[in-house]
Amino acid sequence: MPAMTMTEKILARHSGKDQVNPGDNVWIDADILMTHDVCGPGTIGVFKKHFGQDAKVWDREKVVIIPDHYIFTADAMANRNVDVLRAFVNEQNLPYFYDVGTDKYKGVCHIALPEEGHTRPGEVLFGTDSHTCTAGAFGEFATGIGNTDAGFVMGTGKLWVKAPPTMRFVFNGNMPPYLMAKDLILAVIGDIGCDGATYRAMEFDGDGVFALNIEERMTLCNMAIEAGGKNGIIAPDQVTLDYVNSRNLRKKSYEVVKTDAGAQFIYEKVYDVSTLEPVIAKPHSPDNKAFVSQVSGSKLDRAYIGSCTGGKMTDFRAAAGLLKGRTVKIDTFIVPATSEVAKGLKTERLNGQTLEEVFLSAGAKMGEPSCAACLGGPSDTFGRLNTPISCISTTNRNFPGRMGHKEAQVFLASPLTVAASALTGVITDPRDMMQ
Ligand code: SF4
Repeated sequence: MPAMTMTEKILARHSGKDQVNPGDNVWIDADILMTHDVCGPGTIGVFKKHFGQDAKVWDREKVVIIPDHYIFTADAMANRNVDVLRAFVNEQNLPYFYDVGTDKYKGVCHIALPEEGHTRPGEVLFGTDSHTCTAGAFGEFATGIGNTDAGFVMGTGKLWVKAPPTMRFVFNGNMPPYLMAKDLILAVIGDIGCDGATYRAMEFDGDGVFALNIEERMTLCNMAIEAGGKNGIIAPDQVTLDYVNSRNLRKKSYEVVKTDAGAQFIYEKVYDVSTLEPVIAKPHSPDNKAFVSQVSGSKLDRAYIGSCTGGKMTDFRAAAGLLKGRTVKIDTFIVPATSEVAKGLKTERLNGQTLEEVFLSAGAKMGEPSCAACLGGPSDTFGRLNTPISCISTTNRNFPGRMGHKEAQVFLASPLTVAASALTGVITDPRDMMQ
């Protein structure tokens, strides 16, 4: 049988075929369908319209609902969206609902999914959010879909999918302490452009990738969509399995899938991470790449550390290492992705202080776990750019208006670069603060 990539193999196994080639259209069985407060009501509407007011979801165990976007706001429409989710969960008796105001509340869906054991190697995850590709870090096919497709999956458990060709990005070498996965993925997006991987799988490989912890691998896959990728994916190794097994409390079986030797890639690029510099994306596009050293000194008004891209424990550990014992010069917002991360900030210590104490002592403001200002949101959203200011952020998009005001300037960078810049008030290469 001809060799296949991981993505092709997963699609073949989920369509009952021995072989799937790029361009083949196949019916795929979903393992998990995730939706949230922004797209959930629309998905539910499509489901009810086409399957009937009394229809039941295809499999209660496979539907996961995570309110995360517009959560801590007085906005009535945003709160109504969560009410719609609550009513649907009650009606369908769904077991996996991480409701606001309860002990189960999590925060950002893409980090909540693995924390709660909903991501496993070899599986297919559909989510009504473009950054669903984050879960490719667990060696699964994970992709964002629209409300119409999601309503169909909700009723049938299936989706008609065209198999994408795979691009391979190899990171070799030892990662220097001033680089993070965010630098790697910003380098890729800058090199191939925001449409450089349109409807393609992006497979990340090389010893530089397998030296990363699972959270950093999630950051790599998270921004596949900023290059237009259908999915990002990394082969599972022991790091993956240790994480997945520690979270797989329901003991769901899964099958590890890896790319065959000799599989065909439509594109291949090799990076030496030992020689890469910290990377930044200038306004107003994630592919507007520069090295941080090329734009250092540019004035900033705000720093923001949070989101599914840059709001995990690894991100905050890195930022805290620079902020410890120092004071920020500009407004600095800290937003843990999930309640588990928020708890970690209150318990994990760095030289006697919790990470939260490090941030507060440095003069930063702490927010509740959620998407917060990553997507702008209602005007009372924590950290939202309500005026045309300049912000450096660990988030993933800097299109005009993404974080609020449409004339605000947003620079995307690693948590190290954002923390270093928060301390000086200008764009700062983290190497300058690590000496
Ligand atoms: S944190 Fe930002 S990118 Fe991630 S799911 Fe929320 S709004 Fe989307």
